[in-house]
Amino acid sequence: MKKRVVVLGATGSIGESTMRVARALSDKIEIVGISGRNNTSRLLDLAREFPSARICAGDVAGATELSHEIGRPILHGEQGLMELASLQDAELVLVAIVGTAGLKPALHALESDKDLAVASKEILVMAGELVMETAARMSGRVLPVDSEHNAIFQCLEGQDPSRVKRLILTCSGGPFRKASSADLASVTPEQALKHPTWSMGRKISIDSATLFNKGLEMIEARWLFNIPMEKIDVVIHPQSIVHSMVEFVDGSILAQMSSTDMALPIQFALTYPERYAGPCAPLDLASVGRLDFEAPRTDLFPALDLARRAGTAGGTLPAVLNAANEAAVEAFLAGKLSFPGIWESVARAMDTVPFVEHPTLDQLIEADEAAREIVAG
Ligand code: NDP
Ligand code: MG
Repeated sequence: MKKRVVVLGATGSIGESTMRVARALSDKIEIVGISGRNNTSRLLDLAREFPSARICAGDVAGATELSHEIGRPILHGEQGLMELASLQDAELVLVAIVGTAGLKPALHALESDKDLAVASKEILVMAGELVMETAARMSGRVLPVDSEHNAIFQCLEGQDPSRVKRLILTCSGGPFRKASSADLASVTPEQALKHPTWSMGRKISIDSATLFNKGLEMIEARWLFNIPMEKIDVVIHPQSIVHSMVEFVDGSILAQMSSTDMALPIQFALTYPERYAGPCAPLDLASVGRLDFEAPRTDLFPALDLARRAGTAGGTLPAVLNAANEAAVEAFLAGKLSFPGIWESVARAMDTVPFVEHPTLDQLIEADEAAREIVAG
């Protein structure tokens, strides 16, 4: 029996790796729904490759164009995403839409008793408590795709959660691991987009350069694994071979290692609990040679401390951090903000937007909007 999968954000980097997995495991995985936004030509290729899948374009113009090309009806916009998220046919919905636009479809997928595979860490940062509460009420599982969380998920299998001492997220350190404070002040978007070990979408590449990616992942881990922030640590590991670790009370540390390829965590989430030979190249440790670990430079990269503060306070603060960061990354990429301006904007929004301790979804959305306005100035 094939696993029937919907991919939201199929035209992006995670989407592309997902399709590699689906092609390699075509006897195990069936793609039944696909969404994209602006990249209509890629969406068209996917619509042709998966002729029985429902397709959702970003807007009505894209949907009309595609429908004309392939001669079948095409969904569009948020309503289309909601339809895909609850497709009767689907068992699992993978959310790989950058930012928080995937939040409502993700909640809808859980409400429709689907398993939810989450690549979009921003939705867990913004509304992790709500997502996990919804999953607990319904029958679907939340399966982490982010490589660190997928690694931790694998290390925790069969373990007693009460015996976990801490989660250790590994972090490549990004392109500026060795930079000075003066170097950081003059970083350009081109420099920041060059990640040393992973090839990814633009937003997450900038997040990896500021270390906000790791900050978001600390909060993501807090909700996925229901663990307090003080038990979540970060270690710099430039080779990106150990994807993360779990330390237990007896001092034992379990790690998950594999090649630097998102196909592996995506595949594990899609085929869970089964393991199959897939497209990820085997890891040759002798050719890797050495694995290094070092402490993060929190003085130069304030993102980790800001995330710890937001994750510890909870309430609306993680949503504010996330939205301010998204807006600041866009401003940086548009040449309107300096590189250090990204964390300065996030800190300002966190200090300014009124705090709500137990927010509703509407209050989270309000906090998100208020944070974006502060960054826009
Ligand atoms: P990309 O920018 O490559 O792709 C984003 C996808 O989302 C595209 O399909 C895009 O459509 C779609 N999209 C963007 N905005 C909207 C919107 N408002 N409504 C609907 N669809 C939208 O991003 P990545 O694949 O790199 O990342 C996706 C998510 O996965 C992010 O949250 C990221 O943090 C997370 N992630 C990514 C990793 C990676 O290796 N890339 C690793 C771990 C996590 P289109 O392009 O057609 O406009
Ligand atoms: Mg990650």
